[in-house]
Amino acid sequence: MSERFTVRAGWGALLLLLLTLGCAERRVPASVRSRTLWVMGTEASVVLPGSDADRLANAADRVETVFQETESRLSRFRDTSELTAINRQAGLSPVSVSPETLHTLNLALTYARLTGGAFDPTVAPLVALWQAASTAGVPSPATVARCLSLIGYTKVQSDPVAKSVFLSHEGMQLDLGGIAKGTAVDRAAAALLAAGHDRFLIDLGGDIRCQGAPDGQPAWRVGVRDPFDKRQLLGVVRMAPSSAIVTSGNYERFIVVDGQRYGHLIDPRSGYPVRGMAGVTVMADEAGVADAMSTALFVLGMDQATALLARHPGIEAMLIPDRKPLEIWVTPGLKPRFEPSAEYQAAVRLLPI
Ligand code: FAD
Ligand code: MG
Repeated sequence: MSERFTVRAGWGALLLLLLTLGCAERRVPASVRSRTLWVMGTEASVVLPGSDADRLANAADRVETVFQETESRLSRFRDTSELTAINRQAGLSPVSVSPETLHTLNLALTYARLTGGAFDPTVAPLVALWQAASTAGVPSPATVARCLSLIGYTKVQSDPVAKSVFLSHEGMQLDLGGIAKGTAVDRAAAALLAAGHDRFLIDLGGDIRCQGAPDGQPAWRVGVRDPFDKRQLLGVVRMAPSSAIVTSGNYERFIVVDGQRYGHLIDPRSGYPVRGMAGVTVMADEAGVADAMSTALFVLGMDQATALLARHPGIEAMLIPDRKPLEIWVTPGLKPRFEPSAEYQAAVRLLPI
C-alpha cells in the first residue's frame, strides 16, 4: 500500500476520500463513513453510507471479530492456527478443524478442480522455493521437479464426516492465502447482513465485497489501477448490488533474480512463476470465488482464461496481458459496468466469449 488516506476534491462536486488499497482504488464520497482495521498483515476497511458513528462502530466490530477468527484459524504465520497444525501433521495424521477452515479448504479444492489445478492450495513449497531464489539463485529444473512432487490438490483429504483434513505426503504445505481473504470477507458480509446492515462495503487488502449502494448513488464504484503504472486509474467498475471484486497482479509482490523479475504467483502445473499476464480483476457474487478465480485466470493466461470464462457465465473478468500497448479485455457482462478513464478508452476490448 503506497498511499493511505488522502482527501481530494473531484468526482463531480463531491469531496472524496481516496483510499488506495491493494490493486484497486475506491473513491468514497464524503456522505459515507469508514473505519480502518489492520488484520492478516494488511489493511481492511468497513464503509457504510450515512453519518451514524454508532452504526459504523457496530459494523466494524463485527467485521473485525470475523477477520480475527479467520486469522487465528487460517494464518500460516501463526504457530497455533489450524492451518499450521494441518501442515505439521502432513504425512502423519488427519487434523480436526473448524467448519470455517473446512469450508475455505473445500472451496479451494472445488476451484482447484474447476481450473485444472491452475489454482492450487498446496502450492506453498513452490512459493517458498521461488521466494528463496532472491538469495539462493534460480532453482535447477531438478529442484523444481522434486518440489513439484509435493504439490497437488488431489493429495489433500478433506473428510466432511470427521471434519478433518489430511495432507497425504510429508513435506506438503497448505497455503490458503490465495482464497482466505475472500472467504473472510464473505463471512464478514454474512455477519453484517444478519445484524441488519443492508448497505456496506468491506475491503480486506483489495478483496472487496459490497451490498446495496451509497446514498443517492446507483452503485458502489470501485477503481482498478493500471498494472503498469499504479498511480493511474484504468477506470471504475460500477458494482452489482451484492457482489465482490478481487484483483491479482504481479506488480506489487515480486522478486528479482539476476535482473529477471519473477512474480509471486506460481503455475502449480509447471512449478515456475507465471508469465504473460499483468493483471486480472474478477467480479463474482462471492469474494472467495473472485479471489480464487483471479489467481487462476492469471495463471492460465489469455487463451485458457478466456475458455474458462466462457464455461462460467457468472464470473465477470478484466484481463490485462503483459505486453504493450496495454489492452484491457473485458467479459460481455463486465463491459456495461466498466467506465474506463478517458486515456484508456481505446484500450478496451471485448473478450470473445
Ligand atoms: P492472491 O493473488 O490472491 O494470492 C497469491 C498468494 O497465493 C501467493 O502469495 C501465494 O502464497 C499463493 N499462490 C501463489 N500461486 C498460487 C496458485 N497458483 N494457486 C493458489 N495459490 C497461489 N501477510 C503478512 O505479511 N503477514 C501476515 O501475518 C499475514 N497473515 C495472513 C493471514 C491470513 C489468514 C491470510 C489469508 C493472509 C495473511 N497474509 C499475511 C497475506 C498472505 O500472506 C498473502 O500475501 C495474501 O493472502 C496474498 O493475497 P493477494 O491478494 O496479494 O494475492
Ligand atoms: Mg487470489
